[in-house]
Amino acid sequence: KNPPIASPARTQAIINRYRLSIKKSLGQNFLTDLNVLNKIVAAANLTEKDNVIEVGPGIGSLTEFLAQNAHQVLAFEIDQNLLPVLDDTLAPYDNVEIINQDILQANLTEVANERFDMSLPLKLVANLPYYITTPILMGVLQGDLQFESITVMMQKEVADRLVAHPGTKAYGELSIAVQYRSNAEISFIVPRTAFIPQPNVDSAIVTLTKREPHKVLPFDEKAFFKFVKGSFMHRRKSYWNNLQGIFGKQPEVKERILKVLDEVKIDKGIRAETLQMTDFIRLTNAFHEEGL
Ligand code: SAM
Repeated sequence: KNPPIASPARTQAIINRYRLSIKKSLGQNFLTDLNVLNKIVAAANLTEKDNVIEVGPGIGSLTEFLAQNAHQVLAFEIDQNLLPVLDDTLAPYDNVEIINQDILQANLTEVANERFDMSLPLKLVANLPYYITTPILMGVLQGDLQFESITVMMQKEVADRLVAHPGTKAYGELSIAVQYRSNAEISFIVPRTAFIPQPNVDSAIVTLTKREPHKVLPFDEKAFFKFVKGSFMHRRKSYWNNLQGIFGKQPEVKERILKVLDEVKIDKGIRAETLQMTDFIRLTNAFHEEGL
């Protein structure tokens, strides 16, 4: 019986056997720490009732653990060169399907409906390609895929931004976008030594679970996210300056901005990074009602 795909010796043997040239441009860093893989399965709370979508199976290191612990696994891999490798390494598992597609082009809802029994819980578990962490997460969070949780590895610095609270340096547009729809927490930190080849940053496993809708909702979600983006546009400028950047600098506009701030009882001297989620929602609605 083969040792796990992720064991350092087997990973190296697979790389040699297929003469794989590892593509940095596709964020290829293969996990070779079995302890980390076990912890990912635990963080995702996987059971044999769960269906799993994986992004970027690589040579199958994490996929194997998912296949052993979940009901069915659907994995999207963009790199065609890895298909024969995956065919070989994952041959013992009949509950895995590899789809050779760019995850950002995939219609996850459609594919999931087609392949999965959607009465079972659906989880997203992945060691993400770091260069597209944000678009992948935003696509899933703002899309209509019915998932139960997301458990993903990313650069630690990005993980810090996802879970950041108001008043901290890491808090910003990304924190709000993620926390608007989910409860986000860092499950554990992963050192760069857990991969072949080693990335030049440390990583973290983040778990996102769907949250209840907020008590006060924005009149329009797109408008809300746009407003949040504008609010953090120039971090070193005062919020007052950013608001003029969003709505305009004309004296008449400035007066109406001040009127709204006064209504929602937010001080003109405040900085965006101290505002809570609900502040941004209330501000979005108040500016809309003022016709700005
Ligand atoms: N899951 C493997 C592991 O943990 O060892 C590999 C993870 S590696 C960090 C990221 C994987 O995502 C690579 O296999 C890469 O080819 C793949 N990938 C990169 N961009 C992708 C995209 N747009 N769509 C699907 N897969 C992608």
